[in-house]
Amino acid sequence: MSDEFRPIKLSEIKAFFSGLSLKEKIAVSARAIMVFIALFALIVMFVKAEGNARNETELLIGCFTLLGSAFFFRPLFFLLLYFPVFFILMLNVHLRRTYGLFLSDVANQVFAVIGDTNKTEVFEYLAGASFFELIALLLTAPLSVCTLFYTPKFKEIPVKWIRIFCFIIVLSYPFGNLSQLAPVVKTKFSPEQKEILEKAAAFKFNPEKSGNKADTVVILIGESHRQAEFNPAFDKYVSGFQNLYRFSDMTSLFAGTLNGVPTILSRKKATDRFNFFYEKSVFSLFKEAGYETYFVHYTNTAFEQNQLSVIYKEADHFIKYAKKITPVTDESILPVLENLLANRKKKKLIVIKMIGIHINFSERYPDPGFSSFRRFWTSLKPKTKEREMYHYNKAISYSAGVIADIMQKIEQRPEPSLLLFSSDHGICIFDKGTFHIPATCQNAFHIPAMLLLNPALTAATSDDAKKNLACNQDKPLTAEYYFETIASLAGISYSSADKRYDLTRKCDPLHEKKRPVYTAGKDYFYEDL
Ligand SMILES: [Zn+2]
Repeated sequence: MSDEFRPIKLSEIKAFFSGLSLKEKIAVSARAIMVFIALFALIVMFVKAEGNARNETELLIGCFTLLGSAFFFRPLFFLLLYFPVFFILMLNVHLRRTYGLFLSDVANQVFAVIGDTNKTEVFEYLAGASFFELIALLLTAPLSVCTLFYTPKFKEIPVKWIRIFCFIIVLSYPFGNLSQLAPVVKTKFSPEQKEILEKAAAFKFNPEKSGNKADTVVILIGESHRQAEFNPAFDKYVSGFQNLYRFSDMTSLFAGTLNGVPTILSRKKATDRFNFFYEKSVFSLFKEAGYETYFVHYTNTAFEQNQLSVIYKEADHFIKYAKKITPVTDESILPVLENLLANRKKKKLIVIKMIGIHINFSERYPDPGFSSFRRFWTSLKPKTKEREMYHYNKAISYSAGVIADIMQKIEQRPEPSLLLFSSDHGICIFDKGTFHIPATCQNAFHIPAMLLLNPALTAATSDDAKKNLACNQDKPLTAEYYFETIASLAGISYSSADKRYDLTRKCDPLHEKKRPVYTAGKDYFYEDL
């Protein structure tokens, strides 16, 4: 480094730049634009955080890392540092803009969802990204290629100083942006998590071999169906079923799919804060009881282990029911279900996870006057309660018809058959001013839930059980009651069964107790939301 400290003159920068070849100029400009985009996002985040999530030290470390690596690092090292910082920043900008949250608040959910999604969902989601987010994402790929043309050379600075500088950047890096990933890393490598998974792997229900009553059991899981809108939409189909129980005050334990679905399919309770569960799920109970088990899903299997994939991997068969996501995706469940039911040789458990009313609502129902372009255009517009509720109600009314069609297939079965329909969770549609997140409204948890016993199973079920189910229809309940109720109606008994959670045994099991829910990183009672 030269002895005297003096500011760099603009003319010197100009002289440096004009001394470069065209290729080198492109490479230097590419670096400058990339750093500008990231610095801009970093400063926006800092301002928006209002001193909450990001402090001045983190901002300084972030700027220092970006500028330092841009000036001193060879292209590959620069990109290696730039990309994680850039993507974490963009995720933060997006989460903050869309949901008012930071990545550090929801890191676990975000990374689990990324592992459990598909191409169509990603594209649908990207349509809702802001102009800045899209441009930044689109520009970064070609710009990164351009940076490879040139390696910065600083002849006047001694190599020793450059090395020390690089060492500080690399050391400071994990404490800056990368620290946002700490919650994910912490859970992935926690010894408790490992222990829970080992316990689950060794778990057995050991049901009694005889006495099964239902040959066909279907668990149909919705997506973001809210009781408030679903119930009136389904009214017109009710007369088609002889023995249907509709639970009017059912709540999910969580407001998201990845945590919600496991509480329907296993005995995991509302107060269990671990991602994974130390028991196996309904798939293993039924498999042990001699059933062939199927998981029917609208996406592919997740490539990473999450709280849902660990459950559906217990099933004998995984079926992706939709080739492509369209406004009528869920209609593709019908031929798949018919095909499975046609094989009468074996008793079966079929669990179906619908796409239901997955956001964006405008893309979840058929409308001949509504072209793909208009759907895309609609999803770009800023969300308002009026517009979202309009599309939500249309999608719910379409979905209610599909659900009734699926239920008819079970109603008409000659063998004793059972169907549970439950949404995985509800959704806040500006109930408390915001869309979807934070999920701190009752509608994020108040879900439709119905139990259908076909005529053959109705005849095989005791009057006492039917009386208790009927009595529970207007009582406050939670998804914690599904597992034992389904096992009991299917006639599967096992020694560790917890009869307190069997709705055929007792009416009003909660009896004025409040229902705990966990949302936006905090414990609440549903009744107080
Ligand atoms: Zn969901």
